[in-house]
Amino acid sequence: PHDKNKEFMLSTTIPAIVSVGLNVLFLPHFGFIGAAIVSVLTESLVWLIQLYYTRHYLREVPIIGSMTKIIFATGNAGKMREIRDIMADLDVELLSMKEAGIKLDIVEDGKTFEENALIKARAVSKEAPGAIVMADDSGLEVDYLHKKPGIYSARFIGEDISYDIKNQAILDLLAGVPKEKRTARFVCSIAAVLPDGREFVTRETMEGYIGGKIAGENGFGYDPIFCVEKYGCTTAELSEEQKNEISHRGKALRAMKEKLAKENL
Ligand code: IMP
Repeated sequence: PHDKNKEFMLSTTIPAIVSVGLNVLFLPHFGFIGAAIVSVLTESLVWLIQLYYTRHYLREVPIIGSMTKIIFATGNAGKMREIRDIMADLDVELLSMKEAGIKLDIVEDGKTFEENALIKARAVSKEAPGAIVMADDSGLEVDYLHKKPGIYSARFIGEDISYDIKNQAILDLLAGVPKEKRTARFVCSIAAVLPDGREFVTRETMEGYIGGKIAGENGFGYDPIFCVEKYGCTTAELSEEQKNEISHRGKALRAMKEKLAKENL
């Protein structure tokens, strides 16, 4: 990450040094009136240098730096922990919506994960001028159930129904279905909206299959029934670090980081 403070210091100190240097050089030769004229001329020169510098150089300075605020549009503490972990190497101030003092009821009426992530990020961006706003939308696709529950994962059976019941319902729908037909994936889209209105979206998946029973205490949501081949167990049986490394959200966030870096942000 680049340091905007350092860049700005340079843009003001270089012209200042030029100004002092010119005055010291010319003052002894031109007397009082001459000094005033030299001052006006050097100030104009400094002004021109600064103008050139801000036009041609500061424009290239990345936005992300210690002064950058990124607000992540989620109320989910588990997700926020995962996000902080993955973004830890960026020199930014990362805030949840709550920490940023933003309360919004957002209607997620998009038809895809990408659309819903953008809807959330745009809505929060309106409330947070000057900040980069990111939002995610994620869910579980079960191939045997024609990719359901998909974007309706949180609302599957009912918003207030516990995940013990939701998970058992999916196991029941797959009763007797052999392992090779139980393929499934978690999908995550991340959207970012910049203060200048530019928008970026990423989408990544974690492939796996629905296990035969509920197992594991970690994670959240459908983790206790979602198995990954690499570990031969559910993602609820993995440590946070193990899951972040392979998770849809981890991958989508890292892809977003790369996208922003490519844009020199
Ligand atoms: P969202 O908060 O609108 O993105 O809804 C995502 C829903 O998908 C969650 O409420 C979970 O049901 C499910 N989900 C997404 N990611 C995961 C995960 O990593 N583990 C378990 N369930 C997940």
